[in-house]
Amino acid sequence: MIRMEDAIVQKFSLPALLKESLGAHLGWGRQWGSADLKSSYDAVIVGGGGHGLATAYYMAKEHGIRKIAVIERGWLGGGNSGRNTTIVRSNYLYDESAAIFEHSLKLWEGLSQELNYNVMFSQRGVLMLAHNEHDRQSFKRHVYANRLNGIDNEWLTPEEAKQFCPQLDLSPGKRYPVVGAALQRRAGTARHDAVNWGFARAASALGVDIIQNCEVLGLERDAFGAVCGLNTTRGKVATTKVGVSVAGHTPQLMSLFGVKVPLESQPLQALVSEPLKPAFPTVVMSNAVHAYISQSDKGELVIGAGTDQYVSYSQQGGLHIPIHTLDAICELFPIFTRVKMMRSWGGITDNTVDRSPIQGVTPIPGLYINCGWGTGGFKATPGSGHLFAHCVAKGEPHPISRPFSLDRFRTGRLIDEAAAAAVAH
Ligand SMILES: Cc1cc2nc3c(=O)[nH]c(=O)nc-3n(C[C@H](O)[C@H](O)[C@H](O)COP(=O)(O)OP(=O)(O)OC[C@H]3O[C@@H](n4cnc5c(N)ncnc54)[C@H](O)[C@@H]3O)c2cc1C
Repeated sequence: MIRMEDAIVQKFSLPALLKESLGAHLGWGRQWGSADLKSSYDAVIVGGGGHGLATAYYMAKEHGIRKIAVIERGWLGGGNSGRNTTIVRSNYLYDESAAIFEHSLKLWEGLSQELNYNVMFSQRGVLMLAHNEHDRQSFKRHVYANRLNGIDNEWLTPEEAKQFCPQLDLSPGKRYPVVGAALQRRAGTARHDAVNWGFARAASALGVDIIQNCEVLGLERDAFGAVCGLNTTRGKVATTKVGVSVAGHTPQLMSLFGVKVPLESQPLQALVSEPLKPAFPTVVMSNAVHAYISQSDKGELVIGAGTDQYVSYSQQGGLHIPIHTLDAICELFPIFTRVKMMRSWGGITDNTVDRSPIQGVTPIPGLYINCGWGTGGFKATPGSGHLFAHCVAKGEPHPISRPFSLDRFRTGRLIDEAAAAAVAH
């Protein structure tokens, strides 16, 4: 096993690239170390998805806490962070949501430089299609609300939308006519694996222990009820701070810790086509038909839909969902009717009743929670990690994430993006 101390974290630069080109690229070292679990840490982050890794990175970088472990039961990014359709945007309706997602979008804009790792963030825009009067009014409301919050979003006529995305079919008599669209130009996509690996590499370089194939099984508490350690499949570890970032597994893990969380875990599916030459310039979402599409840098059309309507912990879903989605995609884009689909998969999303995340303290001192990002947390990866790092390090939520407390389900101060948008990818 390679120990942390042995990890070589080389800086990626033009001179390094030139040097390695001459040496057949055999000189690149490992990107992050694989550590053994130590007997104690200042803080432990449970879950090696993008959120957990980003949290550890910002805790080490901005709060100077270096004795941190990220404990992952499988492999890094094996959860939703490596299974999503990579849409990044910040055009949410409510002030609280706009603030948290815009905080993240701003971090995305400098993330490749920050991590010295190309996360392939592409601001190709996200176009949200309106098909009826309700959509039109709702998206215009989003546009105005976003602008008041200093977030870019603009309303396009059908012709302007087609100019931006020439593949749109505006012919008359369509089942889902395009009556306009909201466009966030700064939105787009990123490469999900690169985001996980970039954060892992940067955290590892700051001394964070990344421990894969190790499952957290229980919580140890002291005489005052505060966190004093964790039980794992590799034994006990002492710590006074635990940050939980396990997405769809949150209800299971938190019930082992004795804390109830108002979440439902549901499968969400995605699928990709055979690779095509560049054919699609942007991300298009249609909430009314519940389908969205973009093209990856490899050329595959990346297509997603809504969640299955039942609770499940299997990383797959019902066939009727992708079939309905493909019907809708073919209806919207007849140009793709004969394209073959190559792969489909599912992830377990953690959904709250208001479709807004939960981040903050729990009734157990020293135990912090980050979850409920559901179908839309990839876009939040850097922002959520940045804010959760503050929470775990300081013991209290960052002002931006304060409205997203667990307590809101008791006080009733919900942030109802579910009613506002009906979709949250
Ligand atoms: C098909 C699909 C499409 C999506 N599309 C988008 C999109 O376009 N845009 C967007 O913004 N979001 C999207 N999402 C949502 C997004 O992927 C998630 O919100 C986000 O990736 C959550 O990141 P995470 O790090 O919290 O969770 P995860 O990446 O799921 O990481 C949690 C980790 O915790 C680990 N774990 C669980 N239990 C334990 C335990 N007991 N001990 C140790 N480790 C444990 C798991 O193995 C997992 O690796 C999509 C999700 C899916 C499934």
